[in-house]
Amino acid sequence: MCGIVGYIGHRDAYPVVLKGLQRLEYRGYDSAGIALYDGEELKLCKTKGKVADLKEKLESSISTKGNVGLGHTRWATHGVPNDVNSHPHYSNSGNLVIIHNGIIENYDALKKELKTRGFTFESDTDTEVLVNLIEDVSNKEGVKLGKAVQIALNQTVGAYAIAVFDKRKPNEIVVARLGSPLAIGVGEDEFFIASDASPFIEYTSNAIYLEDGEMAVVRRDKGIKVRKIKDDSLVDPYVQELQLNLEQIEKGGYEHFMLKEIYEQPSAISDTFRGRMLADKGIIRMAGVDDNIERISNAKRILIVACGTSWHAGLVAEYIFEDLARIPVEVEYASEFRYRNPIISENDVVIAISQSGETADTMAAIKLAKEKGAFVFGVCNVVGSSISRETHAGAYTHAGPEIGVASTKAFTTQITVLTLMALKLAKHKGTISHPDFMLLLQEMERIPGKVKLALGSNENIKFIADIYKDARNCLYLGRGFNFPVALEGALKLKEISYIHAEGYPAAEMKHGPIALIDEQMPVVVIATKKGHYEKVVSNIQEIKSRSGKIIAIVTEGDTEVRDLADHVIEVPETMELLTPLLTTIPLQLLSYHIAVMLGKNVDQPRNLAKSVTVE
Ligand code: GLU
Repeated sequence: MCGIVGYIGHRDAYPVVLKGLQRLEYRGYDSAGIALYDGEELKLCKTKGKVADLKEKLESSISTKGNVGLGHTRWATHGVPNDVNSHPHYSNSGNLVIIHNGIIENYDALKKELKTRGFTFESDTDTEVLVNLIEDVSNKEGVKLGKAVQIALNQTVGAYAIAVFDKRKPNEIVVARLGSPLAIGVGEDEFFIASDASPFIEYTSNAIYLEDGEMAVVRRDKGIKVRKIKDDSLVDPYVQELQLNLEQIEKGGYEHFMLKEIYEQPSAISDTFRGRMLADKGIIRMAGVDDNIERISNAKRILIVACGTSWHAGLVAEYIFEDLARIPVEVEYASEFRYRNPIISENDVVIAISQSGETADTMAAIKLAKEKGAFVFGVCNVVGSSISRETHAGAYTHAGPEIGVASTKAFTTQITVLTLMALKLAKHKGTISHPDFMLLLQEMERIPGKVKLALGSNENIKFIADIYKDARNCLYLGRGFNFPVALEGALKLKEISYIHAEGYPAAEMKHGPIALIDEQMPVVVIATKKGHYEKVVSNIQEIKSRSGKIIAIVTEGDTEVRDLADHVIEVPETMELLTPLLTTIPLQLLSYHIAVMLGKNVDQPRNLAKSVTVE
């Protein structure tokens, strides 16, 4: 998510910070802002839009002088993208200024508390709450900025990379990190702060990467002091010599954004849970569902409208909602739905899924559903997007910007959000027993770790990719919850490697596709232990009898399928309903490696756009 940049030293801060923000643009953002201190005044300029818009606005409105600067590209989580919600944020006195990546989950309670003490707020952000909390602490306790930041952070729950500046202490910037990255570039009497090293790579090759739970006071004259936020203990910072080039840094060392995003899935799924699921207490909090719980759980029918990968997530959700919440679900291509005079009643709930929140067909389907009186719930990744504004309620996936055109982490986080929603409805309707509910919640919490383990098969998958990269066609089979995963696996291969691929429910094979099978045809079969395992094993036998090449996705330790298949890729064991979150991972990697081996443009496949804003 988004980026932060800071500078304190002898240079003009503005060009350093501006160029730094441009370097961080790849991370995806919706607004940008810069604060500059020229020895007397602390000035600030921010705007919704691009860094180029900020440059234009800033250079025509404030002086660019000053040796201290903070810059931010925002990817909105709390409050729509607009000028006021953009960072940096002042504290009420105007003495402090902050930039922040991440989410302060308990901002609402803190805000109420601060209001009782006379604080006022201009923006809807969680960040403005934090800077005022720091100010409140420093007023009450009379402590230095570093200490005030530390005390304040110990009162927060959430994730952050922050930089805070106090114009009464102009020789220092205080930074801290928990869950969002933060690097400090160490120069000669000058320091750089950034989300990654790309903004300062041409000034210094020495960097300190703060660890989670650490903070640092960065002093122009005295250097850097790093401490643990929790217990105040001093940390000896490790100064690393950077050897990466710019391009590598922007992609976090990965060759492509798609690969980076595949690897981000453990943290993206955790971010989707964050603040919503308290597994040990058996609590799921989702404001959009909580506020409309009767309306949604009394739905006669749930209609899911989406396109592409989101439609596949919708299909997985169909199985999950029906299984857990016992509400009939239909999944529609938004583009078909909008043009076929659909039957929608006021008792229907429509769930619209779109990563970008701008998909034109899905938007049109929402408008139609609203006209007919249905309640519309949005599942989007991009905060403040058109769909999130057009729907009655919704839930964000909080996956962070997805840049690779072929969707990966958006898919798994959409499934995560929809599973939470289904669980919440099931609990409310009493269609799930308490022990089953608790078991599922606890297992959900283990999913990010299991996704990490599934990623461990990368080398094996690369090996398999090399064998099948020249195939002209490929079949993907799965049953139950994993049938939509087969569709998604086939779509990924088509999208980025341009190999024709089709997904089928495994049992449908004998009704047609089996005619295609010969020794040239790779067949990817999802054959995890739970869920029609024996039936899928029979389907594998049928393929084998016709000399098809079998690549099976199996549960760790499986021996039966291993004996039959040409190749197996293992995923950890989990509850059946959650298997799609794991079985998807090897299919993403398989198509990625094949496309790379074929020399295709993985991040920007031909003819495709990231967000389809046309019909
Ligand atoms: N939660 C903050 C906001 O909505 C920061 C978002 C970000 O990481 O850019 O403003």
